[in-house]
Formats: sequence, structure tokens, C-alpha cells
Amino acid sequence: MTGTSVAPRVHTGEELAELDHRHLLHPFTPVGVSEQLVIVSGQGCEVTDSHGRSYLDGRSGQYNATLGYGHPRVLAALREQSEKLMTYALLGASNEAAVLLAAKLAELYGEPLTHSLFCNSGSEANEAAVRIVRMYHAMRGQPERTTVLSLAEGYHGTTIAMSAMTASPLLWAGCGPLPGGFAHVPTPRCAACATGAAHDGCVVPGPEALEEAILAHGAERVAAFIVEPVLGVGGIRPLPEGYLRAVREICDRHGVLLILDEITTGLGRTGVWFAHQREGIRPDVITTAKGLTSGYVPFAAVTMTSTVAEAFAGDPMLGGLRHGHTTSGHALGAAVALTVLDVLDTDGVVANAAAAGERLCGQLAQRLGGLPGVREVRGVGLLAAVEFDSFMRAAQVVGACRAAGVIVRCEGTVLSVAPPLVVTAEQVDRIVDALYAGVLAADAAPPTQ
Ligand code: PMP
Repeated sequence: MTGTSVAPRVHTGEELAELDHRHLLHPFTPVGVSEQLVIVSGQGCEVTDSHGRSYLDGRSGQYNATLGYGHPRVLAALREQSEKLMTYALLGASNEAAVLLAAKLAELYGEPLTHSLFCNSGSEANEAAVRIVRMYHAMRGQPERTTVLSLAEGYHGTTIAMSAMTASPLLWAGCGPLPGGFAHVPTPRCAACATGAAHDGCVVPGPEALEEAILAHGAERVAAFIVEPVLGVGGIRPLPEGYLRAVREICDRHGVLLILDEITTGLGRTGVWFAHQREGIRPDVITTAKGLTSGYVPFAAVTMTSTVAEAFAGDPMLGGLRHGHTTSGHALGAAVALTVLDVLDTDGVVANAAAAGERLCGQLAQRLGGLPGVREVRGVGLLAAVEFDSFMRAAQVVGACRAAGVIVRCEGTVLSVAPPLVVTAEQVDRIVDALYAGVLAADAAPPTQ
């Protein structure tokens, strides 16, 4: 090696698109599709692509960039922690950032949610939660309690067990055999949904479907029920009011643990710290990821009650909690998460999400509700959706928004809107304006096929 320094080669937008096409696999995307949008930088709620075009990020990446891009305090925390100690594994030792984050989460949730295990992704956190609830029952002399119930339209990740727990034909096709021990409960939804009518407060099929499933499997064989307070991938569907309260009571009656998947909904996304707080209930286990580090570092948490955690206090020969990863509690992620939690609080970000969310949901309902092709507008806080009458129309609106400098995405007929929690009122209006214009344009020029 000589001492001459060589400036890194800057690739053109076309070159990046070509390399992407040839070498990079994208989640849930057919191989061979040319992805023209290559993001190279970001600041605040805006990202810039490889052609120098800027976009308002109306989806926060994948719901995770909650504080937006280039946040100075988060970057400083990342830099400081990496210079001090990149990490130290939590085996026979601990690291300062992981300790402080676990304590901070305990303070944030309050008793009895006192203990956290850290992972690297949402799927891993849910997978850990499943292993934890099964081992919990086994350690307490009920090893036959293994079945984990989830909603038929819930989404919990893509590891092999999380695919089994997510009843999606898309995840199941061609990747069996899937592990057993999972069963699905009908999603609470109003019978009138198919007509596009509002379904607030609807509980048909309601929480009794959970009790029926528990009894059908035999309560003594059911370990836990896992649920998202707002179905995310399942169409941004807030659960009917009262549902979580009712399932909490049903779980208690049958000795079944309640796991809340707040990977998308937690940490301010719905305008409150955690979506389940609206129902005044406490889970036995809660999983968070995405917004926990605002997407700056892959990181996730499984937080549980002291009762669950203490089941693993027994004989060290049994290995205590027989679960974890080399990177569980990685110090960079933990330090970033600590800063993110502090920013959410001290900078009034959760309060901003509540106000901006009200504006977003209100304006979407007011301006898009009733437009041609719009079946329903729904959401809570900064987690909103516009459901269309066809996938083609939803895709057309996404395209129109992108051309207007706003990134949103659709899964099937559901277009979701979830900007960073630091979004301003003016940026909310820009998103709604782009959607409104996109819907009108799609109606004026419907797709030919
Ligand atoms: N649970 C929910 C509710 C999610 O929305 C997601 C991701 N979309 C996951 C779990 C899986 O998280 P990850 O993609 O980080 O594995």
C-alpha cells in the first residue's frame, strides 16, 4: 500500500440503479424489478435520491425513522458511544448503555414491566417473546402450554416461526414445513367493512373469538396471545375500542399471557407513548423495535413483567434464560435508544405526533373521504391509511405522490401514511395535498389494464 489517498468513486444514479438491479435483493420485491429510487441522504423529514431529487418521507422509511434523518443529538450519541465502546457482549459481563436503557424502559413502562431483553429486529423480538412465554410456563411446571395464538390478519415478522405466527399466504407459500404450536383467531372487524362503512367500536367477531380459540385448543395448552394494537401490515386497522381490555380479561381468566407487539405502534407513533395505554391495560410482555432507535441502528426490545422474568431466576445449570444473540444489547443501539427516548420526551415529540396526527387523520378524512375510488380513510395518530377500490388505483396514487415529491407506499389496496413524528403542520398539508391531487389524477386517467 502506498500513502496516496484515492477519493471514493461517486456512482451516478444510473450506475446505482444498475448495480441494485444486478446484486441487491429487496424484501417483498420480485427479483429483476429495477428500483429507480436509490436514497443517498436525508435531513429532517426529507430524503434525497441518487439524481439529487428531494422527497418528503411520508412513510418514515418503514415506519422507523421517527425522529427523521440527521438528528444532531442522535448522531452525537452514536459518535460518542462508538468512540467510547462499540459494544460488549452481555455474557458474563454487562455494558453501560444496555444497563441504562433497560432501566430507562422500566421507568417508562412502570411496574410491573421491569425487565428487558434486547434483539436486533422486530422479528427477533417476537421470536424471543414466543420462546420466553413457552419457557416461562415450562419453568413453572406447565410445559404443555405451548400454543401461541395471534390474529389471522396480524403481522409479526419473517423468521420461520414468525412466518408461522403470521397467517399470510404470501409468507407461507413454498417455505413449509412451518413449525407447529401456532393458531389464529379471527380479526375483530365490522361486518360492514366490505362496504367501506366506518367500523369504529365494532367488535364482530370480537374478543369472544379469542376465548373460543382458547377453549378449542384447551386452555391448559395455550401459552400466550400476541396482538398489535393497530394492525400494521394487515391494513393499518386500529383494533375496536374495548378489544384489548376484553382480551386482557380473557387471558387472565385462562392463565394465558398477553404479548403486545408494539413494534410499529409504540414510542409515539399513534400520538401516545404506547398504543395500549389508550385502553388502560398492561401486557405481560411487550415488543418494540423500529422507533426505539428511530431506525439509526438495528435494535429491538422484549420487555416483560417481573413475574415473567423471575421464572428464569432458577438453577444456573439450566442456563436461566436460554435465549439471546452475540449482539443482544449492542451498546451503539442502546446508546441511540436512550437518546431517542430522551428526545421523544424533552423535545415534545410525542405531543407533536398527537397534534400532527390529528391534523393528518382529520384532513385525510375531510379531503379524501368520498373521492372516487377511495373506500375508506382510517388511522390513529401518525399512522394513517387510505384504502382504494383497486391495487392499480392505489399504485397510481403512490406514483403521483412520488412525482410530486412525497414518498408513500401501498400494500395491495391500502396506501399508508406515516411521516416522522417530528413532521410539521405544513409538511402534513403537503402530504395531504399530494394525495388529494394524486387521487384526482388517477380518476382522470384510469389505468388501461
Ligand atoms: N411486528 C410488526 C407489527 C411489524 O410491523 C413488523 C415489521 N413491519 C415486525 C413485527 C417485524 O419487524 P422486522 O421487520 O424488524 O423484523
